[in-house]
Amino acid sequence: MAYLALYREWRPRTFGEVVGQEHVVRTLVNALGSGRISHAYLFCGPRGTGKTSIAKILSRAVNCASPVEKGSPCGQCDSCRDIEAGASMDVTEIDAASNRGIDEVRDLREKIKFAPSSGRYRVFIIDEVHMLTNEAFNALLKTLEEPPGHAMFILATTEPHRVPLTILSRCQRFDFHRIGDDEMAARLREVAEGSGITVDDGAVRLIVRAAEGGMRDALGMLDQAAAYSGSLVGVEEIHRILGTVREELLDAVVKGLMAGLAGEVLDLIGEVAGQGKDLRVFARDINSRLRREMLDRMGAPRPESEEIDRLCRIIGRLAAAEQEMRWSTQPRILLEVAVVRAARIMSLGDSGTVEDMIGEMTARISELEGLVAGLGGKQVSSPAAFNVPGARPGKPEKYISPGEQGISSAPAGRKAGLPNPPDKGEIADPGIIYNVAASKKEVRPPAQSVEERPGQNPGVKNIATIFSRIDSRWNDMLETARKVYPNIATHLTQGKGWPLETDGKTLTIAFPKSGAYTPLAMGILQNEINIKELSDLIKSVCQEDLRVRLVESDKKPPAGAGRKKRSVHPDDVEALFGKAEDLPEEDFEGFDH
Ligand SMILES: [Zn+2]
Repeated sequence: MAYLALYREWRPRTFGEVVGQEHVVRTLVNALGSGRISHAYLFCGPRGTGKTSIAKILSRAVNCASPVEKGSPCGQCDSCRDIEAGASMDVTEIDAASNRGIDEVRDLREKIKFAPSSGRYRVFIIDEVHMLTNEAFNALLKTLEEPPGHAMFILATTEPHRVPLTILSRCQRFDFHRIGDDEMAARLREVAEGSGITVDDGAVRLIVRAAEGGMRDALGMLDQAAAYSGSLVGVEEIHRILGTVREELLDAVVKGLMAGLAGEVLDLIGEVAGQGKDLRVFARDINSRLRREMLDRMGAPRPESEEIDRLCRIIGRLAAAEQEMRWSTQPRILLEVAVVRAARIMSLGDSGTVEDMIGEMTARISELEGLVAGLGGKQVSSPAAFNVPGARPGKPEKYISPGEQGISSAPAGRKAGLPNPPDKGEIADPGIIYNVAASKKEVRPPAQSVEERPGQNPGVKNIATIFSRIDSRWNDMLETARKVYPNIATHLTQGKGWPLETDGKTLTIAFPKSGAYTPLAMGILQNEINIKELSDLIKSVCQEDLRVRLVESDKKPPAGAGRKKRSVHPDDVEALFGKAEDLPEEDFEGFDH
């Protein structure tokens, strides 16, 4: 018999076997029981949470000759067996991710006219429906507007905001949740036992954590580990397939960092690198462990605000390193530098470089925004109070204005007990400042001053210049769009889209998260033709040849034309810390090259 992946073999075949998603199952079972079956369902939710499985069960259930308990398909009748084998004329599965064209939907519209051959319903399951083109959506909409009595559509998507409102409004929507840790662990043990795999509790815990609520991923990991190690799966096997390291080693790293022992942590990094592990994964794991430390301390009866403060900063430092490591050919060096800095922050209360400060401030501001949102307008308590490391009172708004980030009530710095300003040796060269500006996006250098500086990294300069040009000509672009592509102009302005960032190849246009018009605007602009036209517009008005990508963003959209830009200008830095050119290069104390 051919090998069947665990997740296929153990795919639920009745409603009773579905793990999690009780709210979906109960509603569907009730509908089946009362005969009030909808013509169109939309299943939304993260990958691997059972959307396709439930769609398949439902398609069999409505056609089953003798449904069993709870309206589940019997699995024995001709209809059930044909559908299961993929041989039924009555159930059609379309993967919109690979069939984006209008042909498939046209074919669907032809097929749907005919009565089902053996069952009661002609069912169309369209997976990843958000990938359909605009034309295909329009064709689908016509069918959804007046479906024949025997038609049933089950649309599944991981990105419901990309499905046009006109389609959404005609479907009964179900939101699938990530599967809970306990439920997933129980299911993993059940599958392991049924497949003759022995898996220990530690391994189950690791899989559950890594799968992040996706059952398919979890079973995939179990499958892979079992294929690697035979029928005995332990913690080591899971670490090996995930590229992660033992808990004890992570504990030692975190302990070393907290104690400011850079040398010991560097040894551990060497050990991990020697095992051929992915250091990016390692950096991420260190950081999530540090985050847990921070949360523990914040929950303590008497939180040590100084220590929490330092933890916040080294987390910001490591998060930035992890980000940079993705694109670097020297991830180890980046991690080592970050670790040495982090250890210094912990041991000396080191104020860090300007780069650190901006990175940390940005990270802390978004974190505080989260906290403020969570408090529902209550006063921010003292451990989380806003504190700008190394800044002088009255000056921090030169860097980035907390007010612009939506925190107006938080104090901009402590009156007393401010850490010392960074010593002069710590100030980075101007290149690093621009580098931060280009990668953080909250701070945008004026294009002109970037070009004036010799000796810049050309890639960095280029990206900042490109972005600045697009940003400054955005309104001109909208103006042109109104004349040539009014449809695009309307949705960009109504949807409050704004240029968020660019990597030099792609321009990311952001729309406000949970904006009333966001799903519609994104849904319409997303299709190939509109994206292409948008890219053409930017090319002709801004003289930049970029692909276009649309995202939802938590950030506040800028106020509109003529807005004041947030930026770090070299003069501001000099006003605070003196001229950067006069300073010696920064040294990495305790860091062995
Ligand atoms: Zn049946």
